[in-house]
Amino acid sequence: MTLALYNTLSRSVEPFAPLAPPRVTLYTCGPTVWNYAHIGNFRTFLFEDLLRRYLAYSGYDVVHIMNLTDVDDRTIKAAAAAGKRLDEHTAPFVQAFVDDRDYLRILPAHVYPRATQSVPAMVRLVAQLLERGVAYQGEDGSIYFAIAKFPNYGRLSRLETRELKVGARVASDEYAKDDPRDFALWKKAEPADEQVGAAWDAPFGRGRPGWHLECSAMALEQIGACCHTQTLDIHAGGVDLIFPHHEDEIAQSEAATGQRFARCWLHGEFLNVRGTKMSKRFGNFLTARDLREQGVDAAAVRLLFWQTHYRKALDFTDEALAGAGAGVKRLGEFYERVKRETGNGKRSGRLAELATKFETDFRSALDDDLNAPRACAALFQLVHDGNAALDAGESGAAAALGIVDRAMAVLDILPTAKAVDPTLVRWVEERIAARDKARKGKDFNAADRIRAELRARGVEIEDSASGTTWRLV
Ligand SMILES: [Zn+2]
Repeated sequence: MTLALYNTLSRSVEPFAPLAPPRVTLYTCGPTVWNYAHIGNFRTFLFEDLLRRYLAYSGYDVVHIMNLTDVDDRTIKAAAAAGKRLDEHTAPFVQAFVDDRDYLRILPAHVYPRATQSVPAMVRLVAQLLERGVAYQGEDGSIYFAIAKFPNYGRLSRLETRELKVGARVASDEYAKDDPRDFALWKKAEPADEQVGAAWDAPFGRGRPGWHLECSAMALEQIGACCHTQTLDIHAGGVDLIFPHHEDEIAQSEAATGQRFARCWLHGEFLNVRGTKMSKRFGNFLTARDLREQGVDAAAVRLLFWQTHYRKALDFTDEALAGAGAGVKRLGEFYERVKRETGNGKRSGRLAELATKFETDFRSALDDDLNAPRACAALFQLVHDGNAALDAGESGAAAALGIVDRAMAVLDILPTAKAVDPTLVRWVEERIAARDKARKGKDFNAADRIRAELRARGVEIEDSASGTTWRLV
């Protein structure tokens, strides 16, 4: 079986076939850095992380581009409200995004084009659309895309063409699905734009780019530079971006290049808190830094997210997070146990057989439109059966470890190692040496006392043929 993905464009699961294998160009809409991204945003970024890692696991060479939206309606409004210049306002939120991304173990994209640094490409794209007659200047001085001039408009979001209001216009970046209109490509500079430093000169008038235009221009510029193409293999984002954002991206890009913009469109579902989509508007807003400050292990967040398919809404509850935390801990203990056994016994054996079966199940699950819940179920079956095999003294640990390591390159859900204080390490080692001495002298009471002393400080020890190992619990 090979990888198949659900393409929003065709509304079906299709075999994945990039334009020039093994290369895969992947564009994912990045954060709007007007504020902290919430964990609903990070659910989308984590689904994209899974996608990217599984593509790499499957032998593809991924070029991952993620933009940073550092100029749009919201960033300008927020900067003006804070009395700051645009770059001054967005800088801390860009840094926060990087910190949160690293905390959640999301692999960095290969390139992060920033909207404010890609304005020349945007100006070129608008000029091209004007030249082709699919864009026009409105009486308000802004440049609009004429959706009636692009027959495929509405294909991604399945809008019926009869709903289109020819000539009706919308200037704001976000608008309702039941109200498709000509949308702004380039907005004439307003005093608020000038005040925060969000205005640029262009042959068609001083102004600033519309949000939808930004992504088209940055995606085309980046894939042109790296890969000499005008067609992305995959474009991904959250379901809320299908309309108008992605619909508009297709219109702008394809009207300009005459080429298909993206072969495959992937969309991740929402994260709900108490049954409602998480957003600042509903006041059920949780950021990645809230979780980090609460001491939540990123591995638990990742496992929690993997346990629901990316195309299904996920309910975020404290109980579900605690359950994922327990799962991660169990996995970590199994992993350490397998690691300790790698020096013992043969390479082949029951444990290796179980791991090989797991690998087959893992692949077939993820090949099936990234079915991570099934992949995780297979992993925890391995933990269960593998522990039983180890209890029975079965071998094959070295081969099993290799397979689990490969799966972890995709899921990345081993618990985060706790930072250990060097003074504690010295004390533990001294205590273990004292215990060894007591055991050799057959003073088992003293040895038990030391074990209890260690346990009181959260140190668990385990004796094996190769000596005593310890870990913090
Ligand atoms: Zn975008």
